[in-house]
Order: sequence, then C-alpha cells, then structure tokens
Amino acid sequence: MSTISVKPENHFQYLVLGGGSGGIASARRAAKHGAKTALIEVTRMGGTCVNVGCVPKKVMWNTASVMEVLKDAPNYGFKFDNLSFDWPTIKNARDAYIKRLNGIYQNNLDGSHITTIHGYGAFVGEKVIQVNGENYSADHILIATGGRPNIPDVPGKELGITSDGFFELEKLPASTLVIGAGYIAVELAGVLGNLGSKTSMVIRHDHFLRTFDDCLSSTLMEEMKSQSIDVITNSVIKSLAKNEQGLIVATTEDGKTLAPVECVIWAIGRDPNTDKIGLDKAGIQVDKYGNVVTDEYQNTSAPGVYAVGDIIGKYLLTPVAIAAGRRLSERLFNGQSHLKFEYENIATVIFSHPPIGTIGLTEKEAIAKYGKDQIKCYNSKFVNMYYSVMSHKPKTVMKLVTVGKEEKVVGIHIIGLGCDEIIQGFAVAVKMGCTKADLDNTCAIHPTAGEELVTLV
Ligand SMILES: Cc1cc2nc3c(=O)[nH]c(=O)nc-3n(C[C@H](O)[C@H](O)[C@H](O)COP(=O)(O)OP(=O)(O)OC[C@H]3O[C@@H](n4cnc5c(N)ncnc54)[C@H](O)[C@@H]3O)c2cc1C
Repeated sequence: MSTISVKPENHFQYLVLGGGSGGIASARRAAKHGAKTALIEVTRMGGTCVNVGCVPKKVMWNTASVMEVLKDAPNYGFKFDNLSFDWPTIKNARDAYIKRLNGIYQNNLDGSHITTIHGYGAFVGEKVIQVNGENYSADHILIATGGRPNIPDVPGKELGITSDGFFELEKLPASTLVIGAGYIAVELAGVLGNLGSKTSMVIRHDHFLRTFDDCLSSTLMEEMKSQSIDVITNSVIKSLAKNEQGLIVATTEDGKTLAPVECVIWAIGRDPNTDKIGLDKAGIQVDKYGNVVTDEYQNTSAPGVYAVGDIIGKYLLTPVAIAAGRRLSERLFNGQSHLKFEYENIATVIFSHPPIGTIGLTEKEAIAKYGKDQIKCYNSKFVNMYYSVMSHKPKTVMKLVTVGKEEKVVGIHIIGLGCDEIIQGFAVAVKMGCTKADLDNTCAIHPTAGEELVTLV
C-alpha cells in the first residue's frame, strides 16, 4: 500500500484520469451504480472525439459533401451563379457547436454527482494521483488519457501542423500536402480537396489504408485521383523548409522536391498519452509503443488500476473506448463480474469521399486465418443510381468475405455513396454470425445501394 498521505475527502471509490470518450462513459456508469466518483481532466471536457476528432471532422466531411452535391446539382437541372464558400462561417458554427457539447458533457457529469477535478494528473504512488499539488486516491482507478498526433523528428517539422491544427485553420489553404496513409490522412485530404484546396498526399508505400481490404484502398485511390488529389507514393519526407514566397517545400528521402504548398499536415499516426503520467511510480506496465498493457478485462499490471481507450493501442475509436469503459464499470460496480468488451468484429467508417464502411476480416486476413480453400469472396462494382444522370461516374465497390461450406460472413467491405450509413445494420448481422444464405433470404430494398449486399452472386 502507498504511504503517501491523502485527505479523507480526496478518497473516492472510482477515480478516472481523462475526461474523453472512455473516461466520461465509464465514470457516469459507475456513478449510476452509486460509486463515489471523481474525474480528472486537464483541458476541455469531451476529449479528442469532441474537440479535435470525430465531431469537428464529421462537420467538415458534411461541409465537403454539401460542396459535392452543389457541384452535381446542375446535372439535376439546378442553375445558380457565383457559388462561393466561406470557411469562417462553418468554422465559427463548428466551434460554437463544440463549445455547447463541452458544456453538455460537464452538465452530465455534474448531474451524475461526479466530482470534476481540473488539472493535469499524474501518479505519485500506487493508486495515488496528484493534481495541482493535491493527492487523490481511490479503491479503483481508470486511466483513459487518450493520445496525441505523432510528429517525426525531421528538419522543419514545426512548419507542418497536425489534425489538431487543422481544426484551428482560419481559412481554407490554397494548397495542402497531407503526409500519412491512415484514415485521418485520407479524410483530411478528402475534405480539403473537395472544398477547393489543391491537395496532394505523400505516402510511404504504394497504397494507403494498408490495414484495410485492398478493394477499399485501390478504389479510394482511383476516386481521389479523379478528384485531382495527387497521391505521391513510395516516398518519405526528409525535411520541410520555407521558400522566398513563404510557401512550404518538402523534400523526400529519395531526393524529390515537392511542389511548394501553403499548408502541410502531419497525419502519420498517434502516440498514447502515457509518458508523463507517472506510470512507473504506480507499477503500471507499458509496451514498446507506450501503450498500457491490459488483460481482456482492462486490468493493468497494477491491482485496482484499469485502462481503456486509445492508450491501450487497440481499435482507436470512440465507441470502443465508450463500450470498454461502460463494461468495466458494470463489472466493478454492478456485480457483472464476467462482462468485458469483445475486441473483434468492430464496424468502422472512414469518412472519405466516397465513404468506406467495413467490418471483420479482410480477404487476406481471412485466408491467413482459415486457408485459401475455405474462403469465398463475393464482389460487386457498380455505379450508384445518383450518378446515372451525369458523366462523372464514381464506382461503388462491395465485398463479402465468407468462410467454410456454410459461407459464414466474416468480413464486409464497402466503398461508395451511402456506405457510411449502410454498414451499421450489416454489422449486427455479422456480429450475430450470419451466413451468405441469411443475406440472400433477406428481401432487398429497391432501389438502394445496400440491396447489393443481399443480392450478390
Ligand atoms: C482527427 C480524428 C478523427 C477521428 N475520427 C473518429 C471517428 O470518426 N470515429 C471514431 O470512432 N473515432 C475517431 N477518432 C478517434 C477518437 O477520437 C478516439 O478513439 C477517442 O477519442 C479515444 O477516447 P479516449 O477516451 O481513449 O481518449 P480521449 O478522447 O483522447 O480523451 C483523453 C482525455 O484525457 C485528457 N488527459 C490526458 N492526459 C491527462 C492528464 N495527465 N490529466 C488529465 N487529463 C488528461 C485529455 O485532455 C483528453 O480530454 C478520431 C480521432 C482523430 C484525431
């Protein structure tokens, strides 16, 4: 036990470090079951998702989607002159929305009788966290401190911004270089490109979204090229520098000098916020990437200390952090001793243009797991009826990955208009263990894009 002194009023049943998706959800569920709970947050309430992640990103994706529709509208007979776009209008509306959400999150915590402690928390001993010089302890402690964008150590790195900086931009850059190949990189490039910034991407290998099914990355690369987003492949940035015009010039390790741009965005991954929170003082193990090591019940190596969300390095998604946090509180404070979050068959969407929906194993993963002769894939490529009246014809691509004689569906990968909304319902079916025959036995809804998934041959 720790010998560090803690005032009796600073002892709680549950103490949560980090007021983001996982921390807030877990704290509120604990309080609902009567636990005396406190939550420590250093900045705005709501975490990455609300402030610099899913929420402002989706607002910007919506903005770019409106632009796409406006560009398509003349094909449907609409006529308008002088289409213009004012970035500050949407930025101000977005910021005001997020401010409202910050307030709602704080009200929800207050309404749940959770003590909010404002400040930076770090362990000073086993089950003791210090904030602003004051010590706090608890029977159970949850760490949910999330992550931050990674910036490589190259000359001129400070000339680039990250996704955090993207949300601070006061105007649409005339030209942008997005560095990175993950979903955040393709989402930001899609928004900027569609809104009219001359956008290019630099990726380390020959295609982006490498952990997703090949059909998704190849289709998206084609579509982005058709939207004049230049994807520079097999290149690693060596340095950034400003030229005489004040533009940023990037050079690559293989000696290329890229076209000067107004804005560079680093989107090369995220690091867990675990390096400055005194984990060593509390006997909490991290892996070589700094992620907190947990078992399947979110237990860390220190008894009575748990971790959820981005800091455990698995499925960096808001609903994952929330679900794991809530289940943990059900286990600790509501007697559901075997409840845990299942880290598989997690549906996710990439808000690219067009959007991607995906769940389960990629074709390659399924082959590696079950053997090639066990896997049968059903594929479809078509043009959504929305584009029937125009010359621009983006493709929708859908793939079902099935295994064994019974053709159990172990993966669904779809890209195209509406795929962001289609995948959620199919995720239920996959989670329930559906087979191809179950999908075939489901009557189609016509005319929709989703009907393709129940009519594949
Ligand atoms: C650009 C972008 C887009 C994204 N889009 C999506 C999306 O569309 N869908 C999706 O599901 N996910 C998305 N994500 C991921 C999602 O935001 C995260 O997975 C989620 O926020 C993780 O929740 P968390 O609770 O682990 O951490 P966070 O939400 O990051 O919360 C951690 C909190 O802890 C606080 N904190 C950290 N250290 C301390 C400390 N020492 N003391 C006190 N407080 C501390 C931080 O200030 C923060 O508020 C996106 C992320 C980014 C960056």
